Amino acid sequence: MMLDQLNQIEQNALAALNAVSDSAALEQWRVAHLGRNAPLMNLLGDLGKLSKEERPAMGKRGNEVKRALEEALTARAEALRRAEMERATTREAVDVTLPGRPLATGRLHPATRGLRQLYAVWAEMGFQVYRSREVESDEYNFELLNIPKHHPARDMQDTFYTTTPDVILRTHTSPGQIRVMHEFSQIKDQNGDPAPIRVVLPGMCYRYEQITARADIQFWQMEGLAVGKRVTMANLKGTLSDFARRMFGQNVRTRFRSDHFPFTEPSAEMDVECFLCGGKGCRVCKYSGWLEILGCGMVHPTVLRNGGYDPSRYSGFAFGMGPQRIVMLMHKIEDIRYFLANDMRFLEQF
Ligand SMILES: [Zn+2]
Repeated sequence: MMLDQLNQIEQNALAALNAVSDSAALEQWRVAHLGRNAPLMNLLGDLGKLSKEERPAMGKRGNEVKRALEEALTARAEALRRAEMERATTREAVDVTLPGRPLATGRLHPATRGLRQLYAVWAEMGFQVYRSREVESDEYNFELLNIPKHHPARDMQDTFYTTTPDVILRTHTSPGQIRVMHEFSQIKDQNGDPAPIRVVLPGMCYRYEQITARADIQFWQMEGLAVGKRVTMANLKGTLSDFARRMFGQNVRTRFRSDHFPFTEPSAEMDVECFLCGGKGCRVCKYSGWLEILGCGMVHPTVLRNGGYDPSRYSGFAFGMGPQRIVMLMHKIEDIRYFLANDMRFLEQF
């Protein structure tokens, strides 16, 4: 009689468990079939009322049923958990065939692009890039370049001063000329001659001046230096004309006008035929047909001597240009302040 009841309880409970489809219903099932007031628990509580002979067999069977229901509960719970996870996976599935969101890729700053274009041209011509410090001493920035304290050129190149006396931000890349000469003059060949120099010196320069569409307090500059035996003005003109052809086109014409710089003698400005109007005259070239591109000259004997090269035996030429100015001309950019304003509308155009 009690054995039948136990079997019936087991069958009913297992059948009910089959119908359970979520964790809430499973918890209800656990309370109903294994809880304190479940039929099985009541029946097991009544074991004491049985005779001594019946009790062991009933107790054994009762525990078997209890263990069977507990195992079924565990298995069902695991099955439900897995099913729910599968449903979630399907529901939250990612459609891998959807195109991704495009990533905004950065690009090189127009000044950097301009500089690299210049490096490429000068590298083809056998010049190496030589970098030197932006924080300089007054000695390297002025004195050794033949610009003593009283020289009027200093008025045009006021700069930013550090709290350390005579330590300043460089106003031009020219102090790099002295540094490269100091380094190369130590390298001697078998005849005792110092190493010849062919370098370009790019970098940021600083000046204390009013910020306008044509001038900023910081700007890129690139200059070049060639020093060796029998370097002449003809080498200067040939090299710079070749540079202009490689940079602006094989047919571009150039002209040299005399000028003055403290660190070169003689000195000149080089113009190229306006590549915007082909020399006919336009607003950019101020209707002259020519664009001023760079300053140049033969290295002043004093500067050569300050760099460690005997001016009676060696000579050299130097030139300097504003990479930003060249980029501005090529892209008809009218305001130098755009370069450092960080305005995406400007930067994205390059
Ligand atoms: Zn023009």
